[in-house]
Amino acid sequence: MLLKEHSKNGQQLLVLMLVLLLGSGFLATSLVSYQASLKSIRNSIVNTELPLTSDNVYSEIQKDLVRPILISSMMSRDTFVRDWVMKGEKDVEQMTRYLHEVQDHYGAFTSFFVSDRTLTYYQSKGVLKQVSRQEPRDVWYFRVRDMKEPYEINVDVDLANQDRLTIFINYKVFDYENRFLGATGVGLAVDAVIKLIDDYQRRYDRSIYFVDTTGRIVLTGAQSGPMGAKVGQSLSEIPGLKELQAKLKRPQSGKFEYHEQGRNHFLNVRYIPELDWYLFVDKHEGGLLESVRKTLYLNLLICLIVTVVVLILVNRQIRRYQTRITDLANADSLTGLPNRRGFQLLAGQALQEARRDRKPLVALLLDLDHFKMLNDTYGHQAGDLVLQGFSQNLRDSLRQSDIICRWGGEEFIILLKDTGNANARQLAEKIRKEIASKRYPYKGVNLSVTTSIGLAEMHPDDSLDSLLSRADKGLYRAKQSGRDCVCVEPTGNLDAL
Ligand code: GH3
Ligand code: MG
Ligand code: MG
Repeated sequence: MLLKEHSKNGQQLLVLMLVLLLGSGFLATSLVSYQASLKSIRNSIVNTELPLTSDNVYSEIQKDLVRPILISSMMSRDTFVRDWVMKGEKDVEQMTRYLHEVQDHYGAFTSFFVSDRTLTYYQSKGVLKQVSRQEPRDVWYFRVRDMKEPYEINVDVDLANQDRLTIFINYKVFDYENRFLGATGVGLAVDAVIKLIDDYQRRYDRSIYFVDTTGRIVLTGAQSGPMGAKVGQSLSEIPGLKELQAKLKRPQSGKFEYHEQGRNHFLNVRYIPELDWYLFVDKHEGGLLESVRKTLYLNLLICLIVTVVVLILVNRQIRRYQTRITDLANADSLTGLPNRRGFQLLAGQALQEARRDRKPLVALLLDLDHFKMLNDTYGHQAGDLVLQGFSQNLRDSLRQSDIICRWGGEEFIILLKDTGNANARQLAEKIRKEIASKRYPYKGVNLSVTTSIGLAEMHPDDSLDSLLSRADKGLYRAKQSGRDCVCVEPTGNLDAL
């Protein structure tokens, strides 16, 4: 029993170790590969995807700006423009026609000239208005007039075109003595850039927008900017970006990460000197991580299934071996009958049951007569054969529930369950007779053997030892009485003496 308990503990320990080893191994590899995928996705977003988008948008803007800058530069150098102003801006029609030609020919969205002398704003359809220092919309002109650079790029709403967002190239115009005459240039709609932004946003699920140096959103896709923000809103009003903005004080180029509603965002910011704006390309990892996470869960599930299957198989195999080992340990290899060890287990149970159910139990101790002589005469092999045949005969004569054991050498014990003294005696006699009549053919000789039997019935106070020792006494008497007989040892043998 102790041995069984011990091996059961060992088995549990082995299974536990296997679970731990397999589980931790699988878990570690799954998590490592999950982390590796995450890292590579993050790397690719931060180092490749976002910078690439930023490059593309930037080069598109540059492409859109180069031509208008060239046209505006030519306008500022145009002798007609300068001569016309210097001659006193007499025929408005002439200027209007010139601006119309430029706009038409170069496909510009708008074209203009503002005279510094008269502060008149000319455009292709005629005089638009007078610019004034007090008018916030005209601030640009006075800024251009005072600036050192020959031109600026300004993104503004266009009064001449229903306030559409327009990129203006504002070029300073000088006379031949380098005196300031006014500002000229063309404007182009940012539709192309917006279309590009929309295209990128839709295709690659990322957010693209422009922010000015004060942190105000100035240009977004057609729908809206980051987290639904609109043009004109400050970054400090947008969840997630607000915290980033607070850390950085003002926009600056670089790669950033920030959190918004539990989602991790990657942000690439690039300064665009031509516009004095920052280009923001923003992507959250939500959707991407979903698939990696799904793979992780699938991995873990597979690992779990494999672990469980391995455990079931190992467990089953261990049990099989265990039963086999126990069987081998408890059985006699020559006859296949339970040996002493096996008998102890079975007999212990049988005695307990008989005591509990108050049922009779009888022990028979059998010893083959003159077996040594049989061995000596015919050889050990013949003896073995007789032992095997004898065992089989015992099995055939008894019920499944009775217990038979090879006690050692040519001695056997039988425990007859639920059998009283008289019945047991009859059965013992029957066995004795049958054995005596059996023949065991060996190398042309029919071997035979007889058996002496000692019989003892269990007393309620009996232990296995006391019961067997009484049966042994019976056997001794049987041998004394000339062998090949059954001797019953009375229960109260000692009391009677
Ligand atoms: P008795 O009638 O008094 O029992 O005489 P016996 O010869 O049977 O008794 P003894 O105990 O002197 O001899 C038992 C013999 O049984 C001796 C031993 O060699 C033989 N024996 C014991 N186990 C085996 C076995 O596994 N195979 C064979 N062939 N013989 C065995
Ligand atoms: Mg013997
Ligand atoms: Mg013997």
